[in-house]
Amino acid sequence: MSQFNTSDFMNPMMVQTWSNGRHLVRCVKVIQETHDVTTFTFGMNQPVLFFFKPGQFVTLELEINGERVMRSYTISSSPSIPYSFSITVKRVPGGVVSNWLHDNLNEGDQIAVHGPVGNFNCLDFPTEKALLLSGGVGITPVMSMARWWFDTDSDVDMVFAHSARTPADIIFHKELEYMSTRIDNFRAHLICERTEIGQAWTGYRGYMNLQMLQLIAPDFMEREVFCCGPEPYMNAVRTMLEEAGYDMQRYHEESFGATPAKDVKRAEQHADEAEQAEQIDQAMVQISFNDREQNAAVAVGTNLNEAAAAAGVNIAKACGVGICGACRVKVISGDVAMDHNGGITEEEMAQGYVLSCCSTLNSDAEIEC
Ligand SMILES: Cc1cc2nc3c(=O)[nH]c(=O)nc-3n(C[C@H](O)[C@H](O)[C@H](O)COP(=O)(O)OP(=O)(O)OC[C@H]3O[C@@H](n4cnc5c(N)ncnc54)[C@H](O)[C@@H]3O)c2cc1C
Repeated sequence: MSQFNTSDFMNPMMVQTWSNGRHLVRCVKVIQETHDVTTFTFGMNQPVLFFFKPGQFVTLELEINGERVMRSYTISSSPSIPYSFSITVKRVPGGVVSNWLHDNLNEGDQIAVHGPVGNFNCLDFPTEKALLLSGGVGITPVMSMARWWFDTDSDVDMVFAHSARTPADIIFHKELEYMSTRIDNFRAHLICERTEIGQAWTGYRGYMNLQMLQLIAPDFMEREVFCCGPEPYMNAVRTMLEEAGYDMQRYHEESFGATPAKDVKRAEQHADEAEQAEQIDQAMVQISFNDREQNAAVAVGTNLNEAAAAAGVNIAKACGVGICGACRVKVISGDVAMDHNGGITEEEMAQGYVLSCCSTLNSDAEIEC
């Protein structure tokens, strides 16, 4: 769907480079990876080099049913193929954006993306020996890293251990095998939780554990670990490494973040805690939104997004860790503490803005969003 002559790619005068910001991009390819995972590739109407650090993500800005929604997706492709970038999306049952993308985003469609951003990347943590651990769609950032090292003929010794539910759920299965056959310094190990009737499987079975890890990477203590997957998977990996005495300074992980469902659940927990706190006279604060139309009483230290959910206010949210800036709100009054990861500028902070996903309440507060 490129609307320019591909020879323009070779003309330095024609080629631009993107940087962190808001960009209009066009979907140029849609690839079905598994029954519930699809890759969407994007380009621009003119030749652009999409440089980013392997492991970083973009935040999509979409309008769905008349509402503006934002969600973050890791760039699964590698900057070694820089004229386009891809995201690989798994359908989440009942999920607004993942299902919308699967059902509606076609080649030729234009959308807005913010980024690229993210601290979880392999350029900021250089290493000679890497252990890439992923579960399910958490494969996307570590696949980008592996593709980068592979394509750039790097000397990095890579061990890639990916866990999936069943053999049919293994994302990038053939590519992982292909990469393993091409170079000595890439070894892929696949672990399936279970097999379905009719599926042959000769790889590892069950959940990743220390015995399995010792077979997969006997020298894992010497490796820089990059891990991404569902929360229970990452909790298990962290515990396993800690118990083995691994130096956790060399452990890096990406969480795909809190979902609205979690915020609602946490808000309910906070409401219970607030009730208990009132009973034991614990410090409470009053939060109000948008000209005090929506209010809630929450305990001191409550996260602003959760306080908003308690007051029935839905704040646009994406990364959940103060990187993407999607959840910016203005503090009209009150003491709100923020611990962000670069998703807000000094000017915005001077104007009273905070990123709600990584802010907590120290006093009564009035918020505009
Ligand atoms: C840095 C980062 C990178 C990511 N990279 C990827 C990636 O590479 N690939 C990928 O597939 N995903 C990735 N994600 C996750 C992605 O951003 C979305 O969270 C995911 O696609 C689900 O979004 P959704 O809109 O489909 O679901 P949502 O609409 O957010 O819903 C999620 C779940 O919550 C439930 N829910 C929603 N609202 C409510 C409510 N009010 N009450 C109760 N339950 C509710 C839904 O039923 C669903 O089960 C990444 C996230 C982050 C933060």
